[in-house]
Amino acid sequence: MLEVLRRIVQEVNTARDLDQVLDIVVTKIKLSMAVDAASVFLVDSEHNQLVLKKTDGLNREAVNSARIPIDQGLVGYVVSTAETLNIANAKKDQRYLRYPSVGEEDYNAFLGVPVIYQRKVLGVLVAQRVEKRRFREENVAFMIALSSQLAGAIAHWRLRTETDISNDPDRGKEKCFSCVPGAPGVAIGTAYVIYSSSDFDAVPDRQVKNVEAEIKIFKKAVESVCADLKAMRERLVDVLSDEDHALFDAYILLARSDTLVNGTIRRIRAGNWAQAALRDTVQEQIMRFTDLHDEYMRERADDIREIGLRIFRKLHSDDSAPIKYPKRTILVGEEIGATQLADVPAKRIAGVISAKGSNSSHVAILARAMGIPAVMGASNISLGWMDQCEVIADGYQGRIYVQPPPVIKMEYSRMIKEESKLKKELRGMRQLPTETRDGVPMTLLINSGILADEASQKADDGDGVGLYRTEFLFMLRESFPSEQDQRTLYANILKAYAPRPVTIRTLDVGSDKPLPYFPVAEDNPALGWRGIRVALDHPDLFVTQVKAMLKASEGLENLQIMFPMFSNLDELDEVQALYEHALYEVRQEGFDIVTPKVGAMIEVPSAMIQAESFAKRVDFLSIGTNDLTQYLLAVDRNNARVARLYDNLNPAVLSAVKSIIDAGKRQAKPVCVCGEMAGDPMTAVLLMAMGVSSLSMSCSNIPKVKWAIRSFTFKQAQALLEQVFRQEHTHQVRSLIYNAFESVGLHNLIRIDA
Ligand code: PEP
Ligand code: MG
Repeated sequence: MLEVLRRIVQEVNTARDLDQVLDIVVTKIKLSMAVDAASVFLVDSEHNQLVLKKTDGLNREAVNSARIPIDQGLVGYVVSTAETLNIANAKKDQRYLRYPSVGEEDYNAFLGVPVIYQRKVLGVLVAQRVEKRRFREENVAFMIALSSQLAGAIAHWRLRTETDISNDPDRGKEKCFSCVPGAPGVAIGTAYVIYSSSDFDAVPDRQVKNVEAEIKIFKKAVESVCADLKAMRERLVDVLSDEDHALFDAYILLARSDTLVNGTIRRIRAGNWAQAALRDTVQEQIMRFTDLHDEYMRERADDIREIGLRIFRKLHSDDSAPIKYPKRTILVGEEIGATQLADVPAKRIAGVISAKGSNSSHVAILARAMGIPAVMGASNISLGWMDQCEVIADGYQGRIYVQPPPVIKMEYSRMIKEESKLKKELRGMRQLPTETRDGVPMTLLINSGILADEASQKADDGDGVGLYRTEFLFMLRESFPSEQDQRTLYANILKAYAPRPVTIRTLDVGSDKPLPYFPVAEDNPALGWRGIRVALDHPDLFVTQVKAMLKASEGLENLQIMFPMFSNLDELDEVQALYEHALYEVRQEGFDIVTPKVGAMIEVPSAMIQAESFAKRVDFLSIGTNDLTQYLLAVDRNNARVARLYDNLNPAVLSAVKSIIDAGKRQAKPVCVCGEMAGDPMTAVLLMAMGVSSLSMSCSNIPKVKWAIRSFTFKQAQALLEQVFRQEHTHQVRSLIYNAFESVGLHNLIRIDA
């Protein structure tokens, strides 16, 4: 069964439209389960109906026209209960309703399985037999497994069918998608889709300007692939059997075949660029060859894909033309990385849309730091076709509008204006102290590290830097930076803020911050080799970095060093020994260094529980609420599917943070919060009431947090915190804070951030 399932899923993955997906589904159900009829009904929520979309066994004429009220009949029952229904004699069942047009009179046994995606019933898979006998357990298990495997694809294709503007007579009509908020703000701009050389299917359609030149580029790529294959064959001449030799020749023939070459050229002539023309030709060929029951044909399909990919990679790597980013670029991609974001000129980047990732992914954090809106988790939208379209990215609500109609655009333009007015007002607060209405001061620090030179631009804001993430500095290079390079960069940031403190964090790579030149493949990277674990396994890298920081601090005296991701005290002891060694060596080299303050990040539940023991050993603690929340709630911070479970206002998260602050107090050690929670006005007020020593956040959040703190008395904030700790549910906490914010006149802040 698993093998059959795997093949069906594989085949569905190469389908070019919803119709083909459904065709595969009914054909395979009928064949694999030897039933008399197999059908798919999909929910039309606009009309509250179930529509027969595909059948092999019922009346084909009824496809698209047979519409059943959503809560009626056996299929309606499956939708309303979201449960499987397996009965021997459908016509005797009281829920049965006769729909003559469907043509199911001859059938008795009925098996209906709901297709559920993200808690929503999308439709029903139905198998029917003449024989009056319930379906066997293995048939039921097969259909359930098939339905769960295909739900994502059906959701994807449905959406794509609804939104495919390339063949859409309504081209220009707006499309709106709900995704996940990434970074706050709204941007109206032009989508620019990026994709990697391994992402053949994500190539956007692009209009070709010079058809003949594009054909030349394509032919050159084909010949280059053939030359590579020939060279490979020559190299392996002594190793390969005759049969394997022949394989290389077959590959070359395939690459030069009329179907592949002429098919692609035809598509280029029709106006698409070579990469997308090739993609369509290859996919068409694969569909033709894919036959689940013929091993030979399946292998031919694999060969075509392999050759297509090779030509595509050539086209991709030869595409050296400098990218012309649109004036207000909304960068769109499967998984946008820090380097791709940094590649867009600062003046042109207006927003980000990423299929992967969630609110606390590092790309979202980067976008927040740059003050540009981001929408994450756009995974059910085929992104390619958005290329060059006008797009609105609403980072507050996690919404995307493609080709927005004037009325929506007007509304968003108004919002953008209001926002910039608010920003101006907030800027007016710049010179005012950060203190509560009754004069209790709060230290606001900046999270930095995107680009070292940005530090000087932002040096006016904040009381210093609470978190300088060094990994971005490493990510934007092609190899590990030398001690000297690092020293120069750290000295820049220390100088820009002196005498205010700058807390530089040692390298925290791994998980969603991989280094391109230090690849690590793991099944579960968030629980894998990251942060301090990498440092301890590579003391050379760690010591080089710490030495660079120490040397950079000579004469400045404002360096603080912080270590990430501890899960036990042994790690801290070992790191401290390495640190002492680095300090000793630097002094031996003749540098006159004031001993910096050293801190530990608390971002793993085990460290949270032992926070007091950590506090005893260091000068300060810093709470990494991004990771602490993910590990405490067991919610991957990069997974859009579970994004709604990731919530800093979860009472468990609030209690955990409070317990760390209390542990620091007991040891008379300052505690900073440097996760995103510090930069959210709603949580910042609570953290202040908990007694945190400082809050460190993206520069763009400082004005909002300052405004919130200046709107409360310390007593009011404490009273709110007390009430919050009496709540058991996140939604109760949220509404308490909303009310409190409204009562002190912060409606604007809630409206914008809600
Ligand atoms: C955190 O986890 O809260 C944190 C500040 O570190 P990062 O987001 O870089 O993992
Ligand atoms: Mg972290």
